[in-house]
Amino acid sequence: MPTIARALIASESKTFSVEDIKLGDPGDREVLVRIRASGVCHTDVDLLHRGFSHVMGHEGAGDVISCGPAVKGIAPGDRVALNWAIPCRNCYQCNQGRLNLCEARLQIPKEKRTLRGDPIPASFGLATLATHTLVPDAAIVPLAKADIPPTSAALLGCCVMTGFGSATKIANIKKDTSVVIIGTGAVGLFVVQGAASRGARTIVAVCESGTT
Ligand SMILES: [Zn+2]
Ligand SMILES: [Zn+2]
Repeated sequence: MPTIARALIASESKTFSVEDIKLGDPGDREVLVRIRASGVCHTDVDLLHRGFSHVMGHEGAGDVISCGPAVKGIAPGDRVALNWAIPCRNCYQCNQGRLNLCEARLQIPKEKRTLRGDPIPASFGLATLATHTLVPDAAIVPLAKADIPPTSAALLGCCVMTGFGSATKIANIKKDTSVVIIGTGAVGLFVVQGAASRGARTIVAVCESGTT
């Protein structure tokens, strides 16, 4: 039976509104999630200003409502976070182990998310600024510690990994080095945490006042 979700819809006029959308039942490798918390990333603002209709939001956490028959390791009631880099595990980049660079990110069939009868795209394939979403099981990150507040878990899907990963994987900060971070938004603050986790000796975070 289809699910009616309340969702934040970006419009072609670069405004947004709350609307009812219809989600289909989970297919073989799909999962229906009740969203408990969603972050608002600056990319959401950028996408809004591009002026195309879509369901907003790409960092969220919630509870599994139902799973398709071929889904393994995930069950109704599980607390999960959502990952927008949904790997196909079949393309060149996935085969090189670079799942975050997947060239063919999985999506649910477009007719399974509709607004007034017409398919509507989901931000990054997730559409977390809604009461419910339907995603491929590859987007699901089970949370081993179910006591993580959804408001914290939601951030794992974008700003935490962007900032922390930049510090630990891209910059590869070493122990006892000095680090300067320009910008102290959500991503910048997780760069601070990444640098601290690597044992940086001095961390200077520069905040530019008056900007967002
Ligand atoms: Zn983001
Ligand atoms: Zn891939």
